[in-house]
Amino acid sequence: MSIPFRACILASAIVASLPSQAADAKLDKRTVTNATTLATAGAQDTGAYAIVESLTTEIGPRLAGSAAYDRATKWAEEKFKSLGYDRVYLEPVSFPTWERHHESAEVIAPYPQRLIITTLGGSVGTGGKPIEADIVEFATIEALKLAPAGSLAGKIAYISNRMERTKDGHGYGPAVAARSGASAAADKGAVALVIRSIGTDSDRLPHTGMQRYAEGSTKIPAAALSNPDADLLSNMVRRGKPVTLRLDIDAGHTGATKTEYNVIGEIRGRKLPEEVVVIGGHLDSWDLGTGAIDDASGVAITMTAGAMIGRLDKAPLRTIRVIAFANEEQGVFGGRAYAETHKAELDLQQLGAESDFGAGRIYSFRAGVAAEAVPVIEQIARLLEPLGIAYEAGKGGPGPDIEPFAKVGMPWAQLAQDGTDYFDYHHTANDTLDKVDAKALDQQAAAYAVMAYVAADSPVDFGRAPPLTGEE
Ligand SMILES: [Zn+2]
Repeated sequence: MSIPFRACILASAIVASLPSQAADAKLDKRTVTNATTLATAGAQDTGAYAIVESLTTEIGPRLAGSAAYDRATKWAEEKFKSLGYDRVYLEPVSFPTWERHHESAEVIAPYPQRLIITTLGGSVGTGGKPIEADIVEFATIEALKLAPAGSLAGKIAYISNRMERTKDGHGYGPAVAARSGASAAADKGAVALVIRSIGTDSDRLPHTGMQRYAEGSTKIPAAALSNPDADLLSNMVRRGKPVTLRLDIDAGHTGATKTEYNVIGEIRGRKLPEEVVVIGGHLDSWDLGTGAIDDASGVAITMTAGAMIGRLDKAPLRTIRVIAFANEEQGVFGGRAYAETHKAELDLQQLGAESDFGAGRIYSFRAGVAAEAVPVIEQIARLLEPLGIAYEAGKGGPGPDIEPFAKVGMPWAQLAQDGTDYFDYHHTANDTLDKVDAKALDQQAAAYAVMAYVAADSPVDFGRAPPLTGEE
């Protein structure tokens, strides 16, 4: 996940449970039996962990725009084929290429020492030579915006806000605004921005992530300090003497546009093959770790779920379409391309759901569908109960790559994961395989299989999602 977490803004977007048209929602007996079998498989080895292991070992970091992403594309095609998918194909996704070359930071006065930083995605560099400037600390981006005009001339702005740890990740939204504080800082005259990492750990590992410049503002370099380094810098500032930082960054957009691919695998529906239930994760990752939790896990969970459905005695009515999305991290390019490519097929989209919140167990099921489909959603919820998943009506929102299509009406579901420790590792060098619990992945693969299968085999069309009110 890279974009601000908007679950709370979207809460109003869900249809309240209307008087149930349960008679219309009667599931076939075989559908219920198969769904129960799929849920039971969550207690066994589904093979999801082996897929995360394969992607992180054989490909590793796969930054959008890099040669590694191209290798990941081939890996995903081959993996879908080896899992027995009926059809495997690619859809193009184009975006501007951004590259990170090197970055370093040190305090040169009054307490000289090195700091650990990472350049934020989309940032420009320092122009071929280091910047040396005094730090001005702000508790939040709002405080920075209140600074007098010109007051940061020749300075490096430093935003020290701390992200709060929560199970559902709602601490991310308020904290992450600082990541795109470069333009606000530049507008006051700053020559660079550094921030406390948007993360909940105390490891000396900074968290990268995308930042954006405002139209018309001077583009200045932007970097995140590891959290212990942010503590260190704040302690220096508190002593009252000017703190001078040297920042050396070589990064930026190359000016080239690259075309990569959403990699798609389908289990073909037996009666309504043109209608699709879309599940997926994003195939790209940041470059610092091996992208095990963000988002090899999501790719593995949904690939496995589709394969589990493919092994049933009879395919569901509709097609299961599993998508390994390209370049989510730098601006949801894969999800936006999918919505654009298939915009004429809105009515064929039965349901969409993305797994992009790490590898923690699923505890909650939420959905935004047409009122007449709510009884089916409630039936799916009952089938998910044995997996320890509770139904929460009127909450949640679509995953990042589903959201562009959900905004124009694609019905969506969310299988919310326990993200208590997600932001300890998110977008850091520490996002590696050892953080992934195989049993938690099995529970998730089973949950996606149950949800996608029943949605695909439902006698009820899920219609259109109620309008989303979230803002970009
Ligand atoms: Zn992600």
